[in-house]
Amino acid sequence: MTLIACKECGTEISTKASACPKCGAKVPKTKWWLWVPLGLGAAFLMFGAVVGSSPEAQEKSQERRAIDLCWEEQKRKSFDAGTQRFVAGACEMMESKFTQKYGHRP
Ligand SMILES: [Zn+2]
Repeated sequence: MTLIACKECGTEISTKASACPKCGAKVPKTKWWLWVPLGLGAAFLMFGAVVGSSPEAQEKSQERRAIDLCWEEQKRKSFDAGTQRFVAGACEMMESKFTQKYGHRP
């Protein structure tokens, strides 16, 4: 049980009480849901730490993501044929670099 000071009169009241016994002011409840995003964030970070435990694995997944993004970009309709070819060339270069570095395709 935790005791907090009433914000109205300063009387120590239990956090389990819904109102101050002396003045009747409402006891502020802990907003537990405020911790939900924090908890999720921490879980996500922990998950990331387990999956990408080695810096090499992290780098690898980052490079793979960059290649994915590159191809996504390449498929963009707003590019003309010449630009698409150029971007495709850049993506292929990234892919071949990846293949050389890790011994397999991304
Ligand atoms: Zn009070």
